[in-house]
Amino acid sequence: MKGPLKLKDGDQALAGDGTRLCMAAGCGADAPHPAPRNRSELRSYIWFCLEHVRHYNSSWNYYDGIEGDALEEEIRRATTWERPSWKFGTGPSAAASTSQPFEDKFGFFDAETNSPDPAMMGLSTEEKHAWALFDLSPDTEMSKVKKRYNELAKSLHPDHNKTDPKAEEKLKEINLAYSVLRKNAMKEKI
Ligand SMILES: [Zn+2]
Repeated sequence: MKGPLKLKDGDQALAGDGTRLCMAAGCGADAPHPAPRNRSELRSYIWFCLEHVRHYNSSWNYYDGIEGDALEEEIRRATTWERPSWKFGTGPSAAASTSQPFEDKFGFFDAETNSPDPAMMGLSTEEKHAWALFDLSPDTEMSKVKKRYNELAKSLHPDHNKTDPKAEEKLKEINLAYSVLRKNAMKEKI
């Protein structure tokens, strides 16, 4: 069983040509797989190679809310490592209520899933994340995606969420996801 992944210090590591390098300490591989830096900065990604994003994923629980000495203590004591529990972001069903955890209903973030959705094959992690945020299957028509986007954007609009400081952050996340899906739809038409 693996312990938490040791990360490189500082910001996202880049190669000389600007491509991202895996953030696992000592790893020099390309890093096509993003993961949130921590739960309070959901759009602040760090990037990994496949092996290390899986490792990071599997130790996610141990970074959540535990820091410094407490984290060290936890690492020393732990003899088994629990299954990952991705809860970053929230599904659209929870858009109006930030208390609900992200529901990973397509298993996007379960690297060891036995039955991946065939529609997910060939999608980038960004695209999978976007579809998950929209709570839609990747074969959904763009008109429906647009409709969902409008619903989400409306429900997260700051005017309707004066008491929820996370709504604005989520709206940004939804906007980003929408641009990813739109870009992808244009690519398919060519
Ligand atoms: Zn790596």
